[in-house]
Amino acid sequence: QNAIAMPERQAVTGKKTEKGQPPALQLMKIRKQFGEHEVLKKIDMNIGIGEVISIIGPSGSGKTTLIRTVNRLETLNGGEVVLFGEDFIKGGLSLNRQQVRSGMQRIGMVFQNFNLFPHKTALENIMLAPRYHGTTGNAELNRQQALFLLDRVGLLAHANKYPHQLSGGQQQRVAIARTLALSPDIILFDEPTSALDPEMVGEVLKVIQELAKEGMTLIIVTHEMDFALSVSDRVVMMEHGVVQADARPQSILKADNSTPELLRIREFMGIEN
Ligand code: ADP
Repeated sequence: QNAIAMPERQAVTGKKTEKGQPPALQLMKIRKQFGEHEVLKKIDMNIGIGEVISIIGPSGSGKTTLIRTVNRLETLNGGEVVLFGEDFIKGGLSLNRQQVRSGMQRIGMVFQNFNLFPHKTALENIMLAPRYHGTTGNAELNRQQALFLLDRVGLLAHANKYPHQLSGGQQQRVAIARTLALSPDIILFDEPTSALDPEMVGEVLKVIQELAKEGMTLIIVTHEMDFALSVSDRVVMMEHGVVQADARPQSILKADNSTPELLRIREFMGIEN
């Protein structure tokens, strides 16, 4: 029974990051250009352990680029990323491979288009995750854990199906289970529901919501405004490569003329005045 290792999780503690404990993630003056186009303009952001952050904003504002830089899928033109108090990306300075590798293992990412291996079953896709990262060699343990994770996302009965035999929502849930197999401490979601038919969106959001309740640190790029308001500790709005607003849902919902800085985010979210 003990052989089935649950992914480690942060304890849920109302206030989350404790005094003196570093945040899960610190972005400091993050800059990114594509050619002459400045896509991220000195972004600063702190994300506490167990915090759930939704990133919203118009298309092209830099949301996806931001989370891709955090996961080292894009290089930076400037700035630093500190992960649980340790240097992870430091402009110009190369960190040693061990630092980068251990950091990479702490960050999971879920993509818009699932990125499953098409010729592997749901179960195999998940079992491949840890091996891909070279962390464990015990096949039976992998299998047990993969089944356990499939059950968690409600897909045990579909373990032996191939991606093309699954709906988009089911494929995305497999992709989430695969990410969990790596026992990340932070999960980045890049528009996880935007490739889905409307009737599939709810089942994926429900899985993400459960992770949030369990205290996982989540950063979610999303266009689902109701979801962002209900699940997040903070909603961050980006516009033209800067953070336009960074506020708690309650503050956004209560905002009025005395908080003009929140009127734009309300407008973007479609909240009636
Ligand atoms: P969002 O996620 O908010 O829609 P993105 O981060 O995807 O925005 O894109 C921000 C800007 O960067 C856009 O103008 C986009 O065209 C540009 N961009 C993104 N990726 C690349 C790339 N690989 N090469 C050139 N430009 C890019």
